[in-house]
Amino acid sequence: MDTRKIIIAIDGYSSTGKSTFAKLVAAKLGYIYIDTGALYRAMTLCAIKNGIIDHQNNIDYEKLQKSLCDTAIEFRPTGENGKSETYLNGENVEKEIRGLETANKVSHIAAVPAVRNFVDSMLKRYGEKKGVVMDGRDIGTAVFPNAELKIFMTADPEIRAQRRYNEMVAKGENPNMEDVLKNLQERDYIDTHRETAPLTQAPDAVLLDNSHMTLDQQMDWIITLLEKR
Ligand code: C5P
Repeated sequence: MDTRKIIIAIDGYSSTGKSTFAKLVAAKLGYIYIDTGALYRAMTLCAIKNGIIDHQNNIDYEKLQKSLCDTAIEFRPTGENGKSETYLNGENVEKEIRGLETANKVSHIAAVPAVRNFVDSMLKRYGEKKGVVMDGRDIGTAVFPNAELKIFMTADPEIRAQRRYNEMVAKGENPNMEDVLKNLQERDYIDTHRETAPLTQAPDAVLLDNSHMTLDQQMDWIITLLEKR
């Protein structure tokens, strides 16, 4: 196996288990894990709090552009085996950014080019030293088109919705299955149809359909892939 540090870009549809998988891969290799969706979620929460996006998802672009200068997002380690939480302007927003209100608006905010530029510049700084695993929608296509390993994750929509539903129940929430599935499908649609950096499989990305795979099987799969390098 080539032991030089690389960038591993993991893109794919919502709720395909990208972050769980990416975190494990990072831990296995001693790499840093970056949850790029958390940055878009934090930007969205900021927009909600500042009245930049309304109930119909209309966006005040001018206000959004101005607010970018005052937005500081960071990941702070929790002290628990490699875990970190998201902070927006010094406030821990980890729980809030995972809620349905943010989930329903995030793809609208993430489609704005100025927001993407803002997040991209943060991601490029994280990637400078290599040794990172990033999961998102455009990491292998737009942010790091030269990433040494690109993976594109997919799974059946019903299976993905069930996983997301189980996750929310485990957190003590009371989700409605139809709303969860609708949110996934809406986000998939917006993410794949937006003009800037739409979600698409890079030609050199390896496809991982984990509809019927356990996490252990996915780890075996990537280890084999890395060993071949
Ligand atoms: O990965 P996660 O589901 O948390 O991402 C939330 C949303 O952020 C996605 O649905 C997508 O709209 C946006 N996103 C993006 N590009 C990324 C990561 C996330 O557009 N690299």
